[in-house]
Amino acid sequence: MAEQLRGKLVVERIAADLAPRIEALGRADVVPTLAIVRMGERPDDLSYERTAKKRAESLGIAVRSVVLDEFAPQEALEAALHEVNHDPSVHGCLLFRPLPAFIDDARACEVLDPRKDIDGITLASLAAVFTDGHAGFPPSTAAACIEMLEHYGVPLEGRRVVVVGRSLVVGKPVSMMLLRRNASVTICHSRSNDLAGICRAADVVICATGRARAFGADFFSPGQTVLDVGINFDTHGNLCGDVDFDQVEPIVGAITPVPGGIGTVTTSMTMAHTVAAAERALAARDGE
Ligand code: NDP
Repeated sequence: MAEQLRGKLVVERIAADLAPRIEALGRADVVPTLAIVRMGERPDDLSYERTAKKRAESLGIAVRSVVLDEFAPQEALEAALHEVNHDPSVHGCLLFRPLPAFIDDARACEVLDPRKDIDGITLASLAAVFTDGHAGFPPSTAAACIEMLEHYGVPLEGRRVVVVGRSLVVGKPVSMMLLRRNASVTICHSRSNDLAGICRAADVVICATGRARAFGADFFSPGQTVLDVGINFDTHGNLCGDVDFDQVEPIVGAITPVPGGIGTVTTSMTMAHTVAAAERALAARDGE
């Protein structure tokens, strides 16, 4: 039986770390505030917004929803982001993606002030992830993977870590963050040969592909730590990860469940980044 790396304990620890920092901001009359910008009423967006609001409220973080029509033009979205940039009471901004196909995603992301980019969508934030710099923040999901590994004391230095998936949201940034922690990182994708063999030889496997239960017993070996980033629905509409939990859990040393794993921690990382952005804004204001 593998150890289950549950997100709940990590979430509780992050909340305990944030509480005194949010109190200190309050003494300076600052309420950390997150703007959620979305286009339309996609059920996934609404569900994540509800979760984020609940988590934020429990911590003392304010959330403001900026809602545009699903057919709003690029200019309207960019104007909303400019407004967020210029509002000193907003510290972080989460832009729900994917955006509608007629929106130029890259152009929209670049409008956001990197200081308010708490989910690593601007080029400045991503450059910081790749160069060990300090602008912006890494994508929350990539940060959640690292937080999970560190919370449970999974050693990284010198260890073989395989990341399956190379998106800018998860695969690439988490790989760079692992490299910074001196792991030996292999990045795999849909064209990788002998993916199962590469995964079996790793100490840690991170699956971020969006393929429901595609990673079965033949991808894993005893003693491994497995992070399942996938949030998928199977053919019966059940929420599941990329890893076939029932097959894999008896084999490996430790595994994150879905739900209750990385996704839970991701929301907390968004909150932690918002608090850090508020602290940086206060320090900049005091330094003026
Ligand atoms: P993308 O679709 O952007 O990227 C998927 C990656 O997986 C690509 O690099 C693709 O390879 C690779 N891939 C797809 N199929 C296979 C395969 N059969 N074998 C090996 N590699 C494969 O997805 P995201 O990175 O945005 O998200 C990945 C998963 O993580 C999704 O399930 C998503 O819902 C979930 N997610 C979870 C979050 C959380 O908070 N837990 C937050 C964000 C995402 P190639 O590049 O060759 O096409």
